[in-house]
Amino acid sequence: MDKFRIEVIARTPNPQQVVWAAMHQDYCEDFIGDRGDRFPEEEKAGELIIRHLLSANRGHFGPLEHPQITLNVGYFPHSMMQQVRTHRVGVSFDVQSFRYTGQRIIDVVEGKRDIEDVFYLRPVGDYSDRQGKRYFYSPEQRNEDLNWCLNACKLYQKRIQEGLAEEHARSLIPFDARQHFVLSCNARSLMHLLDLRWKKDAQLEAQKFCELLYLRFEEWMPAVALWYKENRAQKARLSP
Ligand SMILES: Cc1cc2nc3c(=O)[nH]c(=O)nc-3n(C[C@H](O)[C@H](O)[C@H](O)COP(=O)(O)OP(=O)(O)OC[C@H]3O[C@@H](n4cnc5c(N)ncnc54)[C@H](O)[C@@H]3O)c2cc1C
Repeated sequence: MDKFRIEVIARTPNPQQVVWAAMHQDYCEDFIGDRGDRFPEEEKAGELIIRHLLSANRGHFGPLEHPQITLNVGYFPHSMMQQVRTHRVGVSFDVQSFRYTGQRIIDVVEGKRDIEDVFYLRPVGDYSDRQGKRYFYSPEQRNEDLNWCLNACKLYQKRIQEGLAEEHARSLIPFDARQHFVLSCNARSLMHLLDLRWKKDAQLEAQKFCELLYLRFEEWMPAVALWYKENRAQKARLSP
């Protein structure tokens, strides 16, 4: 899957227990903190929250807002980052702005970094546009486009050497520079992201992002992720 990566930086331990606790406090007469270690085991908690919150499309998503995950997302094109960043509610982002540094653009010219580590171009292959018209992206076109990126790096380096600020010279950077970012969200907003960006009509790279995001979700909250996969994934079941 290209060079795309998503790694976990931090995540709420026992997330399914946390959701169970939030759910249980909704109807329990007592202070649930007094239960001590009498919470259901993580796996059992998963079963219970599916049964009582999610099955039969109950739509009781509030308790799923408590567990949080922080991810390091790497090597995706700028355009994909922009699209994912439109999701504001329950999701936080940090990404390099190119205002303060653009050293990796200069590194390409100096041969210190591979151009494909810094810019994303789609692989050679068959594609279609948004109206369904098919076309072939050829090796010749791709080489020409890589060369375009290299020339842009050279011009960027020249302007920096002439004294332009990074935030000024960044206008010369080709659009799909790869960007790394840190993303934090809760389990509900994670599913919302998947709802909107794992659809077949989402940008290809956003769908790849969702494939990796789903893997991290599955490792973290297996019961909820499985419920998500069986009931919502790629079914275009969108929240309003
Ligand atoms: C396939 C696809 C193509 C897109 N193309 C474009 C495009 O070309 N250009 C572009 O600018 N955007 C585009 N978007 C972005 C889209 O218009 C939304 O801005 C984006 O999906 C974020 O919306 P959200 O529902 O995820 O909001 P979030 O910020 O994630 O909010 C989550 C939920 O909270 C509620 N909510 C949040 N804010 C409000 C509010 N102000 N009022 C009422 N309810 C609110 C809604 O229920 C919302 O679904 C595209 C999105 C998709 C999925």
